[in-house]
Amino acid sequence: MIPDPGATAPGASSPIPALARDRPMRKSLLSHSDPTAVPSGNYTGRFAPSPTGPLHFGSLVSALGSFLHARAQGGRWLVRMEDIDPPREQPGAAEAILLCLEAHQLLWDGLLYQSQRGAAYEETLVKLDSLGLLYACDCTRQDLHTMGGIYQGRCRHRQVDRRQPHALRLRLYPDQPGDADWLEFEDLFQGRQRQNLRQTVGDPILKRKDGLYAYQLAVVADDLFQQITHVIRGQDLLEVTARQIALFRLLEAEAPVYGHLPLALNAQGQKLSKQNLALALDNRCATNNLWQALVFLGQNPPAELTGAEPGELLAWATANWQPEQLASLGNRLAPANHCHPLRTDLS
Ligand SMILES: [Zn+2]
Repeated sequence: MIPDPGATAPGASSPIPALARDRPMRKSLLSHSDPTAVPSGNYTGRFAPSPTGPLHFGSLVSALGSFLHARAQGGRWLVRMEDIDPPREQPGAAEAILLCLEAHQLLWDGLLYQSQRGAAYEETLVKLDSLGLLYACDCTRQDLHTMGGIYQGRCRHRQVDRRQPHALRLRLYPDQPGDADWLEFEDLFQGRQRQNLRQTVGDPILKRKDGLYAYQLAVVADDLFQQITHVIRGQDLLEVTARQIALFRLLEAEAPVYGHLPLALNAQGQKLSKQNLALALDNRCATNNLWQALVFLGQNPPAELTGAEPGELLAWATANWQPEQLASLGNRLAPANHCHPLRTDLS
C-alpha cells in the first residue's frame, strides 16, 4: 500500500489505510481502466454478508448501495452467504440476515451459500495448479512472523511434500521483480488505485492447512460463477481488491468493476462490525434505517416521503440514485438511532 495523505476523502477519520490515487501510471497496467464498461452483458451485482451475527447499520449501507447501483441500471442483485468459516459463524445468523433484508424490502434475484460450493473451489484450485500457479507451503505462524508478516514466496521453490499437512499458496506475481508487481485499477467512487503486490500483499493462501478455503479464492470463484459485473461494497475491502483482480487475470478471466462505499464508524473511529458489537438493525424500524442509510450515502430523500413504506422509499431512491455523490463522502460516524418502535406488548 502506498501512503498518500492526499488520497483520503474529506472527513475521513478511519484507521483503514487509503490506497494511493491519481499517480502516474504505465499503460501496460491499465487493462481495467474503464469503470463504465460492463464486462459481460447485463449488470449483475451482489451483497455478500457473513453469518457471524445480525446485520448492523454498516451492513445496511453496503447492501443498499449495491442494491441501488444495480437496480438503477436495471440490473440483477444477488445475495451470497459467506459461510465457509464455521468456527466464526453464529447459529441462526444466516436466516436472520435474510429476514432483515426482506424487512427492508431489499429483495434479491438469487441466493448462493458458499458452504455448498466446495467442489467449485476445488475445481478452481485444480485449474490454477495446472497453470503452475499454486505451491504447497508448510511454513508456521512463527516463520511468517520472522518474514515480517508479508509472505515473500519462501516455499515457491522448496517442493514441499504434498502428503504432509500444508497450505496452498498462489504465485501472485512473477519470480523476478518488475512492472508486473504493480496492479492498478479504477474504483467507481474512490478513483484510481494502485498497489504493489510483491511488497504489500505477498503470495496469499488459497486453501488453508486445516482444509478450509480462503475468502480470496471463494469470492473470485463465486463472482465468476454468478457472472458478477459490479462489486459495490464497503471501503474496508478496497485493500484486498488488487489481489482479487490479479486472481481473475491469472484465471484468464475479466474482473468485475469495483466501487467502494464509505464506512460507518463508531465513536472510537472503528468500522461498525460484529466484533465491536455494533447494534443489530431493528426490523421494526426499516423505514427509518433506510432513510438514515440513504442520507449516509449522500442521497436526499424528500420530506414528503417521511414515514413512507420501505418499498416506496426504495422506488424513489432507485429512480433518483446519484452515485456521483459518493466520491466526496468519507468514512464517518454512523447516525444515532432515533427509532423507537411502538411496544405492542403493553397494549
Ligand atoms: Zn512456506
